Amino acid sequence: MQTTGLHKLINIENLTESTYILRIEKNDMKFDAGQHILLGKANDTDQREYSIYSGVDDEYLEVLIKEVSDGSVSKHLKNLVPGDLLNVEGPLGFFGLNKDKIETGSFLFIASGTGIAPFHSMVRTNPNLDYKILHGIRTCDEAYGKNSYHPDRYIRCASRDIDCEFSGRVTDYISNNTFDKDTICYFCGNFKMIKEAMDLLEKKGIPGSQLHAEVYF
Ligand SMILES: Cc1cc2nc3c(=O)[nH]c(=O)nc-3n(C[C@H](O)[C@H](O)[C@H](O)COP(=O)(O)OP(=O)(O)OC[C@H]3O[C@@H](n4cnc5c(N)ncnc54)[C@H](O)[C@@H]3O)c2cc1C
Repeated sequence: MQTTGLHKLINIENLTESTYILRIEKNDMKFDAGQHILLGKANDTDQREYSIYSGVDDEYLEVLIKEVSDGSVSKHLKNLVPGDLLNVEGPLGFFGLNKDKIETGSFLFIASGTGIAPFHSMVRTNPNLDYKILHGIRTCDEAYGKNSYHPDRYIRCASRDIDCEFSGRVTDYISNNTFDKDTICYFCGNFKMIKEAMDLLEKKGIPGSQLHAEVYF
């Protein structure tokens, strides 16, 4: 059920200079992994969408946010302190795993930057999931939450670093590899990456009905 209300900030964890996790009181909100919320400071009409990063059974809500240098909301949320109130509306959206396939399906998650957030929630919620993550980042330190994933299932694709599992963009990784035609693919992040990655996987024979996307910007 969708609700709107004030939630207290529990803490902020800074992962890099510009990326942070907000941990917020859950206030009994129920959601499906992959959904997002609308978030803003209390008494501020400016709100933005953020995917829920925490698992459905966690006792708190978490979101993973990258501060956009010329943005407004992402910058202001970073300056909050524990105890501050946030306006939270949700859960929203339909970006989730097909419940009939969770136990038997083989999943490929393709993310750019903080687009990893819904996949973190899906993996945390479903510990036996058969998945592989391709995470498009610039440098290896942008591998937010790396330890949450089995090392064999998480591939950092770094465009400006040679010390990750793969040097190059996620689209280069897709071009250089083969994928089982039954793979169910989920994409999240910036539109350009999603469009190019989808086109490549369709050309490799994965049916359009198995491609699911959440565009951030
Ligand atoms: C369904 C959905 C879920 C989202 N989930 C997340 C999430 O989990 N984490 C997260 O960090 N963001 C997420 N976003 C993006 C988020 O809603 C905001 O757009 C972002 O935080 C910028 O808001 P702002 O007010 O700071 O900047 P604005 O003033 O709204 O925008 C400034 C500019 O930044 C661009 N922009 C937006 N996001 C990024 C980005 N990540 N990198 C570079 N440029 C960007 C916008 O296109 C715009 O041109 C999501 C968006 C959608 C639609």
